[in-house]
Amino acid sequence: MKNLVTVALNLPIYSSFDYIAPNAHMIISPGSRVEVPFGNKKLIGVILNSKKMNHDVKEIKYKLKNISKVIDDVPILPNEVIKLCLWCADYYQFPVGQVIFSSLPPKLRKGKEINSTKIDIIKKKSNSSKFNLNKEQIDAFKKIKSKMGIFSPFLLEGVTGSGKTELYVKISEFITEKKGQVLIIVPEINLTPQTLNRFEKYLDCKIDSYHSSLSDQTKLKTWRECSYGNIDIVIGTRSSIFIPFKNLQLIIIDEEHDLSLKQSEKFRYHARDVALIRSRNNNIPIIMGSATPSFESLYNCSIGKYTHLALKNRYFKTKLPSVTVVDLNKDSSDEGFSSELIRSIQKELDKKKQIILYIGRRGFSHTLLCTKCGWTSKCLRCDAHMTYHLNENKLWCHHCGFQTKVDIKKPCGCSNECEIIPLGQGTERVEVKIKKLFPDAKVMRIDSDAINNTTKLNDFIDKTKNKDLDILIGTQMLVKGHDFPDVTLVGIMDIDAGLYSLDFRGLEKIAQLIVQVSGRSGRHSSEGKVLIQTRKPKHPLIIELLKNGYNSFSNKALVERKSASLPPFSYISLFRVSSLNKKDSVNFLSKVKGNFPDGKNIKILGPSPAPITKKNNRFFYQLLLSSSNRKFLLQKSSEIREYIMKQKKSNIRWSLDIDPIDLY
Ligand code: ADP
Ligand code: ZN
Repeated sequence: MKNLVTVALNLPIYSSFDYIAPNAHMIISPGSRVEVPFGNKKLIGVILNSKKMNHDVKEIKYKLKNISKVIDDVPILPNEVIKLCLWCADYYQFPVGQVIFSSLPPKLRKGKEINSTKIDIIKKKSNSSKFNLNKEQIDAFKKIKSKMGIFSPFLLEGVTGSGKTELYVKISEFITEKKGQVLIIVPEINLTPQTLNRFEKYLDCKIDSYHSSLSDQTKLKTWRECSYGNIDIVIGTRSSIFIPFKNLQLIIIDEEHDLSLKQSEKFRYHARDVALIRSRNNNIPIIMGSATPSFESLYNCSIGKYTHLALKNRYFKTKLPSVTVVDLNKDSSDEGFSSELIRSIQKELDKKKQIILYIGRRGFSHTLLCTKCGWTSKCLRCDAHMTYHLNENKLWCHHCGFQTKVDIKKPCGCSNECEIIPLGQGTERVEVKIKKLFPDAKVMRIDSDAINNTTKLNDFIDKTKNKDLDILIGTQMLVKGHDFPDVTLVGIMDIDAGLYSLDFRGLEKIAQLIVQVSGRSGRHSSEGKVLIQTRKPKHPLIIELLKNGYNSFSNKALVERKSASLPPFSYISLFRVSSLNKKDSVNFLSKVKGNFPDGKNIKILGPSPAPITKKNNRFFYQLLLSSSNRKFLLQKSSEIREYIMKQKKSNIRWSLDIDPIDLY
C-alpha cells in the first residue's frame, strides 16, 4: 500500500500537486514539509493531506512522481492553520502554496530543519505591578469572560484613553493563568514595543513580539516556541495571524479600523477578517478594539453579528479635548500656520506643556515649481510629482521610488534666473517653519524618514515621556496609539485632502484620523485642546463629528452609504491590470467586460483608470465588481479571474483584490 499525498508548492499556481510516498512506513502527516521533484528541479512543499492508495487505483490517469525526501517527522503546521490557509486561498483567490508559504517564517520556507530541542524558558521573577479595573472595564471584562471557549466576536468601542489596553491585560491574565494563549494584533510594527512594555509591566508570563523587522532566527524561534506552547502571549503585526499555537484561547485586534491591517499587495488579506475566521474555527472569542470602529464592524453590531462593548469615559476622568476649527479662508496661513495656531502653541509652551503637530505627508513639499519656465518636479515614470526632501536634498517619487539629487537653485535647467516655489507642506517644511517661529523650543520630527528603526523609536518615546521635547511634528507614526501624559495641544495642519477625496471611505478615514489624533491630547490631567485647520469649516459631517462625536457621525454617514449601496451594504472586489502600452490594458479590460455583462445580482464598473494611472512606466486600469450578495461576488470574481488567466496575455499583468481598500 502506498500513500497518495497532496502537496502545496510555493508557486504562483492555483492548484496543489499530487505525489506518492514510495515507502508505506514513511510517516507523512499533513503539515509536514517534503522535498519533491518538479520539472527538473527539487522543491520544498507542505503536505495538505494524504491518503492510502491501492495499487490498482483507476482514478490516477497520469504517472505520479515519488516524494524525494520527508523533511519533518512531526508536522510543523497544525491542521487548524492549514484549514485557515485553505480558507484564505479560496476567499482571497490566491495560489494556495503561496498562502501556505507566506504563513511560514523565512527559514522554514527554505527547508531549514526545525530544531525540536526544547529551550528552557526562564520565568522572570514576579515584579509585575497590580491595578484594578474601573466599573466600565469590569462590565466588559465579565461579558468577555463568560464567552470563553465559544466563538463570540466583540467590538470594544472605547474612547481614546478609556483603558482598552488595561482591559486586554486583565483578560489575557485570566486566560494565561489557565494555561491558555493569547494573540494580540496591532496594525503597525511601531506599536509592538510599547504594547509589549505595558503587558510586561503588569504580567509575569512569557510575552513575545512577532513582526517583519525581527531577524529570521528570532522569527523562527518565536514561531516555534509558540507552537510548543512555551509563549503565553504574542503581540504582533498582521502576519502573526498565521502563527501556530498550542492552546489559543483569545484573539485581540487592536485598532481594528486601521487600514494597515489589510495587506495591500500580492496576498491581499485583511488580518481582522482572517482572525474572525480563525476564532470561529477554534471556537474562541475575539475582541476588536477601537475608539473609531470601522463602518463594517459597526454594521455587524447593528445586525447582531458582533456584541458591542463600550468604554465611554476616559480612565483619568479628564474630559475629551476641546476642539477649535480654524477657517483658513479667514485666518490665512503663513506656510501652513494660521495666527491662531501660532498663538495656541505659544500658550502651551509657556505652560511647559507638549504639542503635537500632525501632517499627513513626509518630505518638504509634494511638488517643486519654477515660475519662470513652468517646470515642475514631475516623475518621468509616473503620473505624479516627486516630493522634495530637504534634508537629503533630493526629489523622490513616493509611487515608484525613483530618487534623484537636486540643485534646488536650478532644478529645471532653464536659462534665466529660476524662481522655485515649493507647493504643499510636508513634515520637513513644518519643522523648518516651527524652528523659525519658536527657536528655543525642542523640536523633533517623527516620520518614516526620521525614525527608521526601533532604537530611534524608543528614543523618541523616552524623550517625550521625560519632557526633553516640546514640539513633536509627525505623520501617522506619531499619533497611532501613543499615550503621552503631557501633550495638551494637538494641531491638525490640514484635513482638506481627505474632505475632497474621491474614495467613498474618505470621510470615514478623515473622521477616524481627527478622533485618533485628537485623542493624544490631555490624556492624563490637564484638559487637552485640538486645533483643526481647514478651508471647508462648514462640512456637515465634520460638524456632526465635532459636535456630537464619532458615534453620531458614523450613524449619519452609514445612512449615506446605505442609500448609495456601498460597503458595508454591499460587497466589492477589484481587478487591476497594467501594461507598458496604455491601450493594451484598456482594450483587455473592455474585452473582459464584454464577456461578463452586468447581471441582476452584480454590477461591473469600468474599465476606469487606477488612482495613479501611470506608475513606474506601466499603465493601470481597473474593473470594480459590486454585489449585495457575497457568494455571488466571489463566484463572479473567480469566473473572471479564470477567464483572464486563460487569455495568457504576456503583455498584461493583473491582480485581484477581494474587499479592496485603495480604490481611488
Ligand atoms: P486606550 O488604549 O483606550 O486609548 P489606554 O489603555 O492607553 O487607553 O489607557 C489610558 C491611560 O489610563 C493609560 O495611562 C493607562 O495606563 C491608564 N489606565 C487605564 N485603565 C487603568 C486601570 N484600570 N488602572 C490604572 N490605570 C489605568
Ligand atoms: Zn515615479
